[in-house]
Amino acid sequence: MTRIDKPEKLPSVDRLLNDPNGVELICEFGASVVIRSVKTILARARAQVVAGTTIEYASLLKALSEEVMHTVTPSLRPVINLTGTVLHTNLGRAALPESAIKAMIDVARGASNLEYDLETGKRGDRHKHAEDLLCYLTGADAALVVNNNAAAVLLTLNSLAKRKEVPVSRGELIEIGGAFRMPDIMAQAGCKLIEVGTTNRTHGKDFELAIGARTALLMKVHTSNFEIKGFTKSVSEQLLAEIAHRHNLPLVTDLGSGTLIDLESHQLPHETTVTEALGAGADLVTFSGDKLLGGPQAGIIAGRRDLINKLKRNPMMRAMRPDKLTLAALHAVLRLHTDPSRLVMELPTLRLLSRDHSEIARLATRIAATVQDKCEGFEVIAAPVQSQIGSGALPSDTLASVALKITVSGKRRPGSALIKLAKAFRNLPVPVIGRITDGALWFDVRCLEDECTFIENLQELTLK
Ligand SMILES: *Cc1c(COP(=O)(O)O)cnc(C)c1O
Repeated sequence: MTRIDKPEKLPSVDRLLNDPNGVELICEFGASVVIRSVKTILARARAQVVAGTTIEYASLLKALSEEVMHTVTPSLRPVINLTGTVLHTNLGRAALPESAIKAMIDVARGASNLEYDLETGKRGDRHKHAEDLLCYLTGADAALVVNNNAAAVLLTLNSLAKRKEVPVSRGELIEIGGAFRMPDIMAQAGCKLIEVGTTNRTHGKDFELAIGARTALLMKVHTSNFEIKGFTKSVSEQLLAEIAHRHNLPLVTDLGSGTLIDLESHQLPHETTVTEALGAGADLVTFSGDKLLGGPQAGIIAGRRDLINKLKRNPMMRAMRPDKLTLAALHAVLRLHTDPSRLVMELPTLRLLSRDHSEIARLATRIAATVQDKCEGFEVIAAPVQSQIGSGALPSDTLASVALKITVSGKRRPGSALIKLAKAFRNLPVPVIGRITDGALWFDVRCLEDECTFIENLQELTLK
């Protein structure tokens, strides 16, 4: 063993590159990455040796291979979502159906008619690819796709209400995590928010009083992630539409999650559908592609053609246009929606939300013993939990589910042991994400569909 206790004893860059380990790394990952990594680890080693640490040559080789792996491994990678939140924003929201994945692969590989009209041989419109199905499924005259729903709201307000006033109920001035706050979006869109009513109660007459010569439109925002209970009143979409139309103003509804199907027919809580919102009189409805719709990240605006055309003419549109992969995936997801009988099997979001409780329970019981085998010092049982829909959809409705509940056996400090265990699960080749609450680590198995991969992956679990 070569012991290195002085900077002069550190190997040269060439020595490490010509070491059999270095050569192997170069073969696999290319010289450039390996040379850079050698320099990085040598600089680090030099600092350590100067500080008085003695290091082994072998540990340099190990550090080199780790540094190379760190550089080449993608930071963004798949994880197993056992948090119990089906549409988890931090975990990438909706899982896509196979047909959408295939559609993306098909257009990713080569050229496509993204903006090319095959009929005329002239320039085409990328928005056409999803518009027909969106109209068919929602009953809208026209529709437009942008990168996400925040963009959809921004584009709508900027196109229709710049330098004008938009009355919104005080009970609907929401913040949806971090950057999306309705008042801020209004300001960025260049319009003036007129707060109407009170936090808990807003009446039709409040809107009537707020409407003036500078009013551009009325807006209704779906209060996606909270609920006000008790002495409350909000203005129904129908009434708001009636007031707006009486003053010759459009009504814009930000539905947030926005579903195209009747969730109650899948034994799920009711959520206003896009068709219902349009039917109630909204002139434009905005919603996300990757929430209850179960598709790719996108924002969808559906409604009156003249308004959609105004949005399309806004220069901002160019900065928000969806890419071909999004459009391909979205089309496939919309296509599935035209066949409701297949939807529940083929759309992962709906399949997971409506998954049979006894199937979840059987799965939890089956894997509990395997997980127990790998978790010495812990007790693993299958226990009832409530899953959440997530992404602000139906915030107060939860779904009965079953989790692996892991607690610490014996008298160790449970908190730190659970934190360590959760970290060990996150360190697996496919990281497994659960949540710690009430003195236990919980893995809700509602979203676990690939049992074999989970078990195989688990073999790598190391508790230290
Ligand atoms: C989620 C949500 C948004 C933002 O949608 P993104 O697709 O995340 O940009 C806007 N409005 C409401 C009501 C929402 O629930």
